[in-house]
Amino acid sequence: MEPIRFRPPLYEQRYEFVKSYVDTHRPKKVADLGCSECSLLHRLKFRDCIEELVGVDIDKDVLKRKGYILTPLAIHYLEPLERSLTVTLYHGSVSEKDPALLGFHLITCIELIEHLETDVLEKFQDVLFGFMAPNSVVISTPNVEFNVLLSKKTSFRHPDHKFEWNRKEFQSWAMSIAREYNYMVEFTGVGEAKSEIKDVGFCSQIGIFSKNYAESEESINNKRNYKSVYKKVLHVVYPSIQQEKYLRKVVLNIALSHANRIKTNFIHNLFPEDEEKTNMADHEKEPCVVSRWLSTLPTSAESEEGKGKPPFLEGDAIHVPLETLFAIPKVKKLCGSLDVLRNMMNGEITLSNDGSAVVYPLHVDDDLDSDISSLISAC
Ligand code: SAM
Repeated sequence: MEPIRFRPPLYEQRYEFVKSYVDTHRPKKVADLGCSECSLLHRLKFRDCIEELVGVDIDKDVLKRKGYILTPLAIHYLEPLERSLTVTLYHGSVSEKDPALLGFHLITCIELIEHLETDVLEKFQDVLFGFMAPNSVVISTPNVEFNVLLSKKTSFRHPDHKFEWNRKEFQSWAMSIAREYNYMVEFTGVGEAKSEIKDVGFCSQIGIFSKNYAESEESINNKRNYKSVYKKVLHVVYPSIQQEKYLRKVVLNIALSHANRIKTNFIHNLFPEDEEKTNMADHEKEPCVVSRWLSTLPTSAESEEGKGKPPFLEGDAIHVPLETLFAIPKVKKLCGSLDVLRNMMNGEITLSNDGSAVVYPLHVDDDLDSDISSLISAC
C-alpha cells in the first residue's frame, strides 16, 4: 500500500485546528504546553483576540534557539497592534505547578502527552486540570490504529514516545479526567484516511475539554501563593496602541499626514502649476497673483479633505484646524476628544496660540514673495 501523505502536512492541520478553535472561542490568554519550536505560538500570536501568549517546554535549548520567532519585527513598531500582546516562554516541566499558568482561557497540549512517562503523566493531569484549571484544553496525541497506514518500521511513530493509544484508550483516559476535574470532553481529530480504508479514525486524535464550573476567587488566590518554579526564557511586549507612547505615534502619523495633505492642496489652489503660467501668452496671464489667490481661498464650511473647518491663512502661515483632523474617523476613535488630540500634538508640531489649529509657515519661491507680502498686508 502507498504510504499516506497529508496535504497540508499533519502538523499544519493540527495548528489549523487550534487556530480555528481560537477564532471561534476567542480566548484572551492562551498557553501551549510542550511548545517545542514555538511553531504553534508563532501562528497564534496574530489571532486578534489573544492578549497573552505563553509557551512552556522542558527543553531549554529549543526555547532559546527558536524563541526569536516570537519577538516583534520593525513593522510591528511602525504599525502597533490595537490590542495589547505579551509573549512569554518558560523553561519548566508540565508536571510542576507554577502560578504563572493560572487564569488561562485556553491551554493546548499538541503531541505532548505521549512523551510523558506514566508517573509524569499522572502529575501532569492534576497540574493541568486541578491546578491550572483553564476554561478549555485541547489535547492531541497519535491514534495508534492509524499506524497501519504509515510507512513506519518501528511500533511507535517517534523514538521518544512512551506510548501511543488507540481511540478507546485515549477516550477512556480523557473521560475519567473530565469526570474527576469537572470538565466536559468531546473528541475529534485531524488527518483522515481515504474513504475506502476501513474505520481507523483520525491520524491525530484530539480531545477538547471545557470546564463546567467557575472557580472561586479564594481558590485562585490560594494557588497564586505557590512558589514560582518555571524559569522565564523570553518575555516580549508587542508595541500596541494600548500603550500611551504608541497610541500617540499612531494618532500623530494619521493626523499630521492628513494635515500635510490639506496644507499642500491649499498651496496648490493658491499657486496652480507654474509651467501653466510660463506657457501662456501674456494676454492670457492673470493680472496679478494676489487676485487669483483671493479667489481660490476656501469658502465652504467643509474642506475637501473631509468634514470640518477649511484651512485658512493668518499672518504668513497656513492654519489647519484641529477640528478638521479630529473629524477623521480613526483619529476620533483613538482620541475620544479634541482635547486629547491637542495634548498629543502639543510639543510635536506648532499649534496656534489658542491651540485650535496646526500652523505651517508659508514657504514660497522668491519671485512670489513680494506678491505674498502685499497680499498679507492687504488682508
Ligand atoms: N507541541 C509541539 C508542536 O506541535 O509543534 C511539538 C511537541 S514535541 C512532539 C513534544 C515536546 O514536549 C518537546 O518539545 C518536549 O521537550 C516537550 N516535553 C516533554 N516532556 C515535557 C515536560 N515534562 N514538560 C514540558 N515539556 C515537555
